[in-house]
Amino acid sequence: MSLESFKKIINEGKLTCPKCKKAIKQFDKYVERMASVWDGAGDSHTETEGSLVTLICANDGCSFKERTEYWDNYLSDD
Ligand SMILES: [Zn+2]
Repeated sequence: MSLESFKKIINEGKLTCPKCKKAIKQFDKYVERMASVWDGAGDSHTETEGSLVTLICANDGCSFKERTEYWDNYLSDD
């Protein structure tokens, strides 16, 4: 998941706030987490392992804010 893809998910309202059940509108401090992979032949490369992000609901009257790497739990199905 790159920052650009994550932005798209937020812009499309695909993450649902667990408190008010509306779309999460903002995020902060996105960090892509990389895992090093050693192929045994002398080369190593990195693969995206996941991402850590602060989700901010930002809907009226809702104070939901969470720093999580399991933000996909809030992905809506439709
Ligand atoms: Zn909310």
